[in-house]
Amino acid sequence: MRVRNAITVDVEDWFHVSLFRHHIRHSDWEKMESTVVENTVRIINLFSRYDVKATFFVLGWVAERYPELVIAMQEKGHEVASHGYGHQMVFEQTPDQFQDDVGRSIDLLEGITGEKVHGYRAPSYTITRDTLWALEKLIELGIDYDSSIFPVRHDVYGVADAPRFPFKIEITAKGSIVEFPISTTKILGKNVPIAGGGYLRLWPYWFFKQGIRKVNSAGEPTIIYFHPWEIDPLIPRIDVGNMKHLRHYGNLALMEERIISLLKNFRFTTVWQVLQERREFQQWPQTKPEWNSYAKMLQ
Ligand SMILES: [Zn+2]
Repeated sequence: MRVRNAITVDVEDWFHVSLFRHHIRHSDWEKMESTVVENTVRIINLFSRYDVKATFFVLGWVAERYPELVIAMQEKGHEVASHGYGHQMVFEQTPDQFQDDVGRSIDLLEGITGEKVHGYRAPSYTITRDTLWALEKLIELGIDYDSSIFPVRHDVYGVADAPRFPFKIEITAKGSIVEFPISTTKILGKNVPIAGGGYLRLWPYWFFKQGIRKVNSAGEPTIIYFHPWEIDPLIPRIDVGNMKHLRHYGNLALMEERIISLLKNFRFTTVWQVLQERREFQQWPQTKPEWNSYAKMLQ
């Protein structure tokens, strides 16, 4: 049987993205033209068409304003997980602020669905070496898995030498959490993202197809992500400079078609389901000596 991959959507509006955080103030979000409901509904319908269940990491700010959108996901059998409340980078928060932010989103989501939230994804994958304390906070909040560690080198996120496939982080006396790292393929000894988002829009599709196939043929699942605004070529434009413009607006018109290709070419389900199907997890602290010292620090 072919390996099942996880398909995930970070449910936020186009103006929430970290790339814009110095251009659009949090206090102005309320005034922006929101497109999250119509685009998320389009995605829910797309998944229904291909009979795929997915994981939606919903921003608390969105859930609070559009609870009916969360109900729609639940009714179609999708997994509702947390993307935090206010979309602040983890390294721009104190551990207490982080705990409040994620806790607030879990309360909101569980209040709407009446079901336990198992998973969390940080804004812009910002659980890095400097913010590993976040994992301990997630355990305290009752989160079972995290999908925020990107095993690549990047200017904002990434733990370049983290394992590439789901693994368990055991923090003695605090419990454990499973990490599903954002997917990469290995090219000339380097981890290269095959995860979705801007990569899926801007890089050739065959590269993704080959990368996912390679991971699956080794018996491992991948995890793919995208955002509701990425399938909407008509989202409002703001002036943010050429590079950011490309990263945010590049190839939006191609995205939906590329997601359809993925859904046709591979098997997908929710993160929680993929993790349930996997019985064994390698343990990070045992394989990485530096993580032992981290685990010790927390005891
Ligand atoms: Zn996000």
